[in-house]
Amino acid sequence: MTSAPPEARLAAVNDAIAKSARIAGRKAEAVTLIAVSKMKSAEEIKPLLAAGHRIFGENRVQEAAEKWPTLRAEYPDVRLHLVGQLQSNKSEEAVLLFDAIHSLDRPSLVTALAAAMAKSGRRPDCFIQVNIGAEAQKGGCAVDQLPELLALAEQADLPVAGLMCVPPADVEPAPYFALLAKLAKRHQLAGLSMGMSEDFETAVTIGATHVRVGTALFGARD
Ligand SMILES: *Cc1c(COP(=O)(O)O)cnc(C)c1O
Repeated sequence: MTSAPPEARLAAVNDAIAKSARIAGRKAEAVTLIAVSKMKSAEEIKPLLAAGHRIFGENRVQEAAEKWPTLRAEYPDVRLHLVGQLQSNKSEEAVLLFDAIHSLDRPSLVTALAAAMAKSGRRPDCFIQVNIGAEAQKGGCAVDQLPELLALAEQADLPVAGLMCVPPADVEPAPYFALLAKLAKRHQLAGLSMGMSEDFETAVTIGATHVRVGTALFGARD
């Protein structure tokens, strides 16, 4: 699939999402495809814009700030999602640039984002990233710290849209997706940001509302 033209890859991913949604008795429109364009140039992104796609993801504030203002001048209805770790001192820039932030994972970031939102008047949707496999090297709040972090985010009046996870590599992801879905339900959160190129179809059958797909759309990153 990755040797196909970009617009064919986009159609194939959208078809796969629709098929998985149907299997699960869900509507395809309930799933938002975030095209993760990290490390991809404006030239590589343009075919997807031309094909009508408008929702993109980046994992670094600096890279997004370099690439997207020019593209957005041409396509003002683009929506940008931050899918990578956020340093507190980049919160102001992130709030100005992104429409959603999928990496809220600690109390200091709640404070920094709340201040940045108050200052700018912008309120990007926030997803709390959960370290669903309890992996030492991974970002995200621990499962047992989620209630406390959610309470802090609520006190700070952050617009929390849901939960996000990246399950452990090289193991069956379904149990991790199911755990994230259970946690979201417990806390009455509608958004579930889960599923990447390798496993977005599984994620959709388990309730993903946002899938974050890079490689399957753009080809491998160097
Ligand atoms: C890079 C990245 C993705 C996309 O990964 P692919 O395997 O290329 O689809 C999704 N989510 C996060 C958090 C990422 O960093």
